Amino acid sequence: MFTPLDNNILQEIAHTYGTPVYVYHAEKIADQFQQLTTAFTGVNARFFYACKALTNISVLKYIRSLGCNIDCSSINEVHIALKAGFEPTNILYTSNGIAFEEIQTAVELGVNINIDSLSNLEKFGKSYGPNYPVGIRLLPNIMAGGNLKISTGHENSKFGIPIYQLNQILALLKKYELCITGLHIHTGSEIKDVDVFMKVADIFFELAPHFPDLVFLDMGGGFKVPYKENEQGTDINLLAKKVEAILHKFDETYGKKFQVWFEPGKFLVSEAGNLIAQVNVLKTNANLNFAGVNSGFNHLIRPMFYDAYHQITNISNTKASIKEYTVVGNICETDTFAWNRPLPEVREGDLLVFHNAGAYGFEMGSNYNARFLPAQVLYKDNQAHLIRKRDELADLYRNQIELD
Ligand SMILES: *Cc1c(COP(=O)(O)O)cnc(C)c1O
Repeated sequence: MFTPLDNNILQEIAHTYGTPVYVYHAEKIADQFQQLTTAFTGVNARFFYACKALTNISVLKYIRSLGCNIDCSSINEVHIALKAGFEPTNILYTSNGIAFEEIQTAVELGVNINIDSLSNLEKFGKSYGPNYPVGIRLLPNIMAGGNLKISTGHENSKFGIPIYQLNQILALLKKYELCITGLHIHTGSEIKDVDVFMKVADIFFELAPHFPDLVFLDMGGGFKVPYKENEQGTDINLLAKKVEAILHKFDETYGKKFQVWFEPGKFLVSEAGNLIAQVNVLKTNANLNFAGVNSGFNHLIRPMFYDAYHQITNISNTKASIKEYTVVGNICETDTFAWNRPLPEVREGDLLVFHNAGAYGFEMGSNYNARFLPAQVLYKDNQAHLIRKRDELADLYRNQIELD
């Protein structure tokens, strides 16, 4: 059974590789993947890891070794997936707002593609007609997800082809004899309510008869994971039961057994990741106790970008009495990880751990303030493995052209 990394191991990693450092726990990724496959044993389901959450090649190789497929959101992610050893047939490129050239490259590489605009679908029809099976990304009218910034299925969202344009889709299907094998809807991130996925299934149910070549129904990703202690994530077992039931309905009504595809990002890697930073300075002003760490939104932007909550622990002083700290970064800009967070007394030099940092942490990082991106470590088979070096000065100069 899975046990989280203990503080001694995290301290050792911080000591060996310096801080700030991202640490990913392979067993946790495996545990999450197994939860999915176990829940969905009764369903013909395929899981595609939405790799924009975390694209480190060693992590991708590990996820491939688990038997998971991969979902990409840019052609470069497709190239990285191939480099990590995924078979083209196990790669899905779910596009959004991309140039048609990227779709052409994806076809040349032989990967699965979901097309998200009428304009690219038309170009696709002209170039490939019925010769390359393709999925289409649809925009339902469903408001779901943790907050507006991470919602993708509401009527004013840029993603997908609106379902009320079905007639135009069908006109293209007919004109170019398109082989549309999949329907895709991704409604957003942090969707706890299983019924959102059922609404998507209902839409697929309505649309299915229009697409004679249909093979897969792709419900996207967006499973919620717990961020706070005692918080609940998406009930995967309940979801699996409901999906199984609705697939029976498809079978009874249309006499077809569809595959169901999912694209979990956060679900697989969020909880597996920790960011460890060290406290540089303590400062008290009129109202607040600041704990200033040697990191910032250049390394973990989710609190400032999405008002995301990340649990923080002080692994250097676990048993001290609790005080409230506003945990801030060292970026020249308001850069707050947490306001008035109760923590065991924090001292300069202590190590603070930011939880749920596996997804959209390093990946959204930058060199803002000319700071280095942190090192990344994968803890696997009871051993820490460096999987990306911390930046150095040369990395900041790379690609710059110095004029006299
Ligand atoms: C980002 C994304 C996902 C993954 O979302 P999570 O909330 O990380 O599970 C899945 N599918 C598509 C198309 C995405 O853009």
